[in-house]
Amino acid sequence: MATIDGLPPLREVINTHDLVAKKQLGQNFLLDLNLTAKIARCAGDLSACDVLEIGPGPGGLTRGLLVEGARRVLAIEKDPRCMPALDEIAAAYPGRLQALNADALEVDVMAHLTPPVRVVANLPYNVGTELLIRWLTPQIWPPFWQSLTLMFQKEVAERIVAKPRSDHYGRLALLAQWRCDAKIVMHLPPEAFTPAPKVHSAVVHLTRLPAPRFPADEAILQRLTAMGFNQRRKMLRSSLKGIGPQIEAQLLEAGIPPTARAEEISLEKFCALSLIVARG
Ligand code: SAM
Repeated sequence: MATIDGLPPLREVINTHDLVAKKQLGQNFLLDLNLTAKIARCAGDLSACDVLEIGPGPGGLTRGLLVEGARRVLAIEKDPRCMPALDEIAAAYPGRLQALNADALEVDVMAHLTPPVRVVANLPYNVGTELLIRWLTPQIWPPFWQSLTLMFQKEVAERIVAKPRSDHYGRLALLAQWRCDAKIVMHLPPEAFTPAPKVHSAVVHLTRLPAPRFPADEAILQRLTAMGFNQRRKMLRSSLKGIGPQIEAQLLEAGIPPTARAEEISLEKFCALSLIVARG
């Protein structure tokens, strides 16, 4: 059957290169090129951007990104078995795909990318959250990327976009929403992948803000949210006791009842509290 890019269907690619999925590498492949092109479109206009893709596998999403007009794609794949398949795609799109066989946690990506950069990936579950936290906490803001369009298991996606008083609200929501707009743009059932995972998945699109949404002391904000959410059922006057003897007065000054729990507190209030605590 003809494909949208004239390259062989992904099932054939997988058979040709004997890419039996490895669980320890989080390999659940997307084989429907119409679906991968749709994910690529969720990232916005790619024609003037370099795209960083982590974990291209046999290249389904990579091909979607190229079909949708990405200026250049840097694809970092840990599994050396996938490289011949990626080389075939690179040959079909001269100068537009650089495939690196490396661990994404080890690569200095900016040595290979030209801004503006968008990140688009069906992330391996074992390193997905770690990569997201790295991308959200660079030393300098704004970061190297303009947007992140990332597939996660649905539960992680819900933690990123969660609002106060919901079960999924916590540190990841605060970290992401402090400096980004974040929304879920697509839901995928297990059958969309080969092999099918046990869980549902969702694509989250995060757009960086030029500056954090509210002024805050970053280190103290991290500490407050870690302490508050590590004991999320406790009242803040108790979970934040370690901050110091004035914590009750500081909570009141920030407009937070000391009897409230972390999951009830908005990002804005957490940021205000961080500044009050920083002032001492
Ligand atoms: N993008 C492909 C797709 O959508 O069909 C594959 C996605 S699969 C969920 C995750 C991919 O990440 C696998 O190909 C796996 O080998 C790769 N991977 C796992 N750990 C990695 C790491 N640390 N660095 C780079 N790639 C990694």
